[in-house]
Amino acid sequence: METAQATEALVSRQTFDQVMVPNYAPLDVVPVRGVGARLWDQQGREYLDFACGIAVTGLGHCHPALVAALNEQANRVWHLSNVMTNEPALRLAKRLTELSFADRVFLANSGSEANEAAFKLARKHASIHGSPEKRQIISFYNAFHGRTLFAVCVGGQSKYTEGFEPLPGGIDHVPFNDLEAFKAAISGNTCAVVMEPVQGEGGVTPVDPEFAKAVRQLCDEHKALLIYDEVQTGNGRSGTLFAYEQLGVTPDILTTAKGLGGGFPVAAMLTTHAIAESLAFGTHGSTYGGNALASAVALASINEIAKPSTLANVKSRGEQIREGLRSISERHGVFEAARGMGLLLGAPMTPEWKGRARELMAACLRHGLWVLVAGPDVMRLAPSLLLTESEAAEGLRSLDAACAELCSVALAANG
Ligand SMILES: *Cc1c(COP(=O)(O)O)cnc(C)c1O
Repeated sequence: METAQATEALVSRQTFDQVMVPNYAPLDVVPVRGVGARLWDQQGREYLDFACGIAVTGLGHCHPALVAALNEQANRVWHLSNVMTNEPALRLAKRLTELSFADRVFLANSGSEANEAAFKLARKHASIHGSPEKRQIISFYNAFHGRTLFAVCVGGQSKYTEGFEPLPGGIDHVPFNDLEAFKAAISGNTCAVVMEPVQGEGGVTPVDPEFAKAVRQLCDEHKALLIYDEVQTGNGRSGTLFAYEQLGVTPDILTTAKGLGGGFPVAAMLTTHAIAESLAFGTHGSTYGGNALASAVALASINEIAKPSTLANVKSRGEQIREGLRSISERHGVFEAARGMGLLLGAPMTPEWKGRARELMAACLRHGLWVLVAGPDVMRLAPSLLLTESEAAEGLRSLDAACAELCSVALAANG
């Protein structure tokens, strides 16, 4: 008889090609264990993790407070549905309202679903309070809002919608940080504007604070709801609990996911009492949204993240890594100065290395460091919010070595 362990020993990267839909192209390494900022693969090789999944395991792997919350709830009750409610969901929602501008919370399971709820709420709100023409959603090129059909269409990369037609309508895109283009697009028919404070998947491009303020003002003038997609920038990643706090702009609706559950799938849409009223009984829902296990873990996670010591560490490690990246970029010329906020950093490849961010990612892995890319031209770093100073220095040394390796290979090929 085959034990569970024997089955586990048999799977490898090759198994992916045999049993999985080929929509991903995962790396060859298969990590099996993680503690804090470190991961170990099937062969026992150690890695420093500057990826956190994709900016998800913000407190590192297997944080004791999250493991305790998961175990404690696992022995009480896992799931009750929204026909009843459960204590962890109510506690999580209460905490999120204490920690943000919001008075009301809708819980979901993924960033896409939180955005789906936000876009539906914006349309519903306009159908109740606006004219029948008030349907337009404005978003930005290179934005990413998830992969459900509505969310992917609101996102600003047409390669992700090709072949999925017919597509939902009433969505317009303008260049990010381009105020003239935005002014030309917004009108009384706009029901919502959605933006990421830092475009994550689109290349780690921060919003210009002046642009953010002007968008807020134009939304007010045209009675359009401002939605901040903080799926990636939220939960401490930017150096404050949510990035909007640093912009001096308060959105009407905020969505978040990724770091919220520290690796447990959970998402939230936050809004004000007045706007929440438009999502009346029966208008929207989710089977798993507010699941007790997910909510218990997310509450533990948000409490750890909201500690001043965690947020202060994000700022100081962010500065340390930015400084380290600057000196590596001067030494090797593989990438340029980094941009981003807190511990969400992106370094665009130099013209000579354009389109080769994935090669750098693979080289880092050979040197024991997990990094991410944001498209073909940007290396992205999203390490644990609890990364120590010495771990940050170690990661920078590995990155330096990876760049040196790439340069020496390139030199050998040209010489
Ligand atoms: C990852 C991401 C999403 C999608 O989240 P899923 O959990 O994959 O559905 C949406 N918006 C932003 C800004 C993201 O980074």
